[in-house]
Amino acid sequence: MSANAQNLSFVLEGIHQVKFEDRPIPELKSPHDVLVNVKFTGICGSDVHYWEHGSIGQFVVKEPMVLGHESSGVISKVGSAVTTLKVGDHVAMEPGTPCRRCEPCKAGKYNLCENMAFAATPPYDGTLARYYVLPEDFCYKLPGNITLQEGAVMEPLGVAVHIVKQANVSPGQSVVVFGAGPVGLLCCTVAKAFGASKIIAVDIQKPRLEFARKYAATATFEPAKAPALENASQIIKDNELGSGADVVIDASGAEPSIHTGIHLVRPGGTYVQGGMGRSEITFPIMAACTKELNVKGSFRYGSGDYKLAVDLVASGKVNVKELITGVVQFEDAEQAFKEVKAGKGIKTLIAGV
Ligand SMILES: [Zn+2]
Ligand SMILES: [Zn+2]
Repeated sequence: MSANAQNLSFVLEGIHQVKFEDRPIPELKSPHDVLVNVKFTGICGSDVHYWEHGSIGQFVVKEPMVLGHESSGVISKVGSAVTTLKVGDHVAMEPGTPCRRCEPCKAGKYNLCENMAFAATPPYDGTLARYYVLPEDFCYKLPGNITLQEGAVMEPLGVAVHIVKQANVSPGQSVVVFGAGPVGLLCCTVAKAFGASKIIAVDIQKPRLEFARKYAATATFEPAKAPALENASQIIKDNELGSGADVVIDASGAEPSIHTGIHLVRPGGTYVQGGMGRSEITFPIMAACTKELNVKGSFRYGSGDYKLAVDLVASGKVNVKELITGVVQFEDAEQAFKEVKAGKGIKTLIAGV
């Protein structure tokens, strides 16, 4: 690594093969673009998956690709048409730029864009570099009471906001969240901010449940090695959920959780799939049918989600600081991947260069 590198970037070349590379400082592609000096980047399961396997589903890393997509930074250059940001502003970076022209984009569901350019999803480079270019409306100015470290957590918080919105969580409802990793924990706290009264976190790891309880869950459950129906009725009994939970969110992607979750929703209730695991599983379709469940997917984030994420933290309704359990220097970026892989801490950030 050279000290006078212009745009030092953390590049994935192949499975477990990473290197630091000095790349040219990216040019603004439109007068509405800004250049961001990246300051902090969180690492999540998808980054680790690319590092370990070189692909996720149909997305295969064919050319060396810069990793990272959960970032915050400081505006270092603005295009001639930029009106909302100035050099020096602190921003949370929404890392996917939709085409704005396809049917889903025009329908207001830009997360489903057919031509999305998303950071660290091949062939698009990620944000683990000194500089990254984004349109101004995909940078969210951080108010003075949100640090740049917290700003990097707006990405998973945006994911959680989208999931909880998909679930239509409303005041007084009971919400069960499967998976107490960063996104599951953030779903618990967003559900609380939306007024849910019972928030039950489910995970197979005790330390994660302890964290969830201190953080935002009102109760926790560690599933027994038992049939899904039995775990579901135990959760209902323990938490006096009557005919079942109003809302179940899966943030684990694990087949047993999905089974238990479907059995756990009350008739007419809502189930949202947020976690990504195996692409095909067996599914309790009869229960979904006879209970007339609203079964929905949730993918990344869309209109208003990042803005709400920033507002929730600015207003003190959501705390993301507690989730940041480690910060490593840019030179030690690979260490962050190893820590996430080992399940160490909740959210590890990589400092910028
Ligand atoms: Zn992520
Ligand atoms: Zn589009």
